[in-house]
Amino acid sequence: MSTHKTLVFHPTGGNLTISAMQNWHITVSDDATASEQYAAEEFQKWFNQATRLTLPLDTARNDEQVIIGASSTLGDEDIEITVDSSQIQISGGMPRGILYAVYQFLEELLGLRFLTADHTYIPDASAPQIPCGSYTYSPPFSFRWSYYRENSDAPEFAAKRKVNTVTDAENLGGKTQQQLINHSFHALVPYGTYGESHPEYYALVDGERDTNTHGGGPQLCVTNPEVIEVAAASAIRQLSERPGAANISVSQADTAAYCRCETCEGLNEAEETPMGSQLTFVNAVAERIEKEYSDVKVGTLAYWYTRKPPKTVKPRHNVQIQLCSIECCTLHAIDNPDCEQNQAFCQDTNEWAKICDDIWIWNYNTNFRAYDLPFPNLRSIAPNVRYFLRNNAKGVFMQANGNGLTGEFSDLRNYLISQLIWNPHLDADAHLNEFVNLHYEAAAPPILEYINFLHNNVEARGLHPRCFPTPEDVGLDAESTQTIFDYFQQALTLAEKPEIRERVEKASIPAYKAMIVAGGEMPSQKRQTLIDEYITLCERYNMSHAAETQAAEMYFEELRS
Ligand SMILES: [Zn+2]
Ligand SMILES: [Zn+2]
Repeated sequence: MSTHKTLVFHPTGGNLTISAMQNWHITVSDDATASEQYAAEEFQKWFNQATRLTLPLDTARNDEQVIIGASSTLGDEDIEITVDSSQIQISGGMPRGILYAVYQFLEELLGLRFLTADHTYIPDASAPQIPCGSYTYSPPFSFRWSYYRENSDAPEFAAKRKVNTVTDAENLGGKTQQQLINHSFHALVPYGTYGESHPEYYALVDGERDTNTHGGGPQLCVTNPEVIEVAAASAIRQLSERPGAANISVSQADTAAYCRCETCEGLNEAEETPMGSQLTFVNAVAERIEKEYSDVKVGTLAYWYTRKPPKTVKPRHNVQIQLCSIECCTLHAIDNPDCEQNQAFCQDTNEWAKICDDIWIWNYNTNFRAYDLPFPNLRSIAPNVRYFLRNNAKGVFMQANGNGLTGEFSDLRNYLISQLIWNPHLDADAHLNEFVNLHYEAAAPPILEYINFLHNNVEARGLHPRCFPTPEDVGLDAESTQTIFDYFQQALTLAEKPEIRERVEKASIPAYKAMIVAGGEMPSQKRQTLIDEYITLCERYNMSHAAETQAAEMYFEELRS
């Protein structure tokens, strides 16, 4: 099986040749929805660029045609394509499946690659033959977020990457009706509303009712029966304002000050985790929500002190459990038995998967302390995504530099991550190699060597970097940094075409950053030149953030002084 195939093919025999499609039309229904119409226009545009055939778009049926239309019997992102000698039917669920079906056809049957918002690889597709038969696909994750600003700034591109979480635009099929599971106690039982009249609704910490609103706090006294009713009523009211919503968050605030009252702690002790009282509460709220909204799921975080599952309490059938891998090593796959740092998270996830069929994952894919420092996690992304799938994951939030442009390899990473969360079974190495070769062309070999060097170096040193690593944590010292810098200087000399040079320059920013922060002793003039070149490149390629909480301009000022 090809490493690039997503569609499941059922052959019926024979081939359709592009040259036989000279007089074909594209047919779309005269009452087409915005996404069907856009899907047909996208097909027309990209088919023309790949084959140089301009197929007219019309609403009347033809003898030889590409029919583009959504199907009400398919799941909202399912794909069904049939090809025979006189007709191609491209069908998909409403509202996004139809658009994804067109992109999948262009990618898989004509060889296009939507690499970045302004780089689509278009092979000469005038000659090839398309095997006749049916092609189907149903994505295993229903919530897919490759969290890069490259997507939110260019929703048309995000749609090509099948990221279903960034835009409400109707022609792009909008967002999934599922929301990211997140802290929500502050919105369900607002301290501003109840704090004064009902201090007993809030967590008892060190003998006093907590008043601290930091991190969405205070936490709730989750065993107080009135708190359950207030939270459930709030959730039901919120859902009435979100018609079509598929889930809602009922989840702890982002603080460790959970309730230590006698009842809450009694439950926690019996269940051997603070999740004992939390999950009991979430289940109770979920039971009340189900009576009003039987299809809506209730999401909660298994995070920090609630990550370990309780001894006996299990999530209700309408509860989603979201695990956050923040403590994990990012070099190694979560289920790599040789990585000690990942074992606790792996064990907890395995345990949750046994008692919940709707697991969500919040996974970390950048250095939040320095977006543009080399970040060696390219070998763990694919095994992690497959691990999530094996453990009942339905939603995947791949957090990266979502608030910043031009992080380390953000183009390559967004491509790879979005590809894998659409189809976890793809060969990630083959896709990485293909991206680098298509995007950097003549300069690709040293860039591929750099990627190998970076990962081999960290592995050889026995390091286990997390998602806030220092330069030393990712194996950067004067020697390795020089090696990295040299790979990019070599790549630059190989990049002759102006647009390739630009891409390589953009990709080289982390090499400059590494030299500045880990290059060791050097003459001050050399250091100054590196800083000047680094800032020039960052500005040229629109770097917006040096870290999650640091705008690029602030960092440049720091460097200049
Ligand atoms: Zn309590
Ligand atoms: Zn590790």
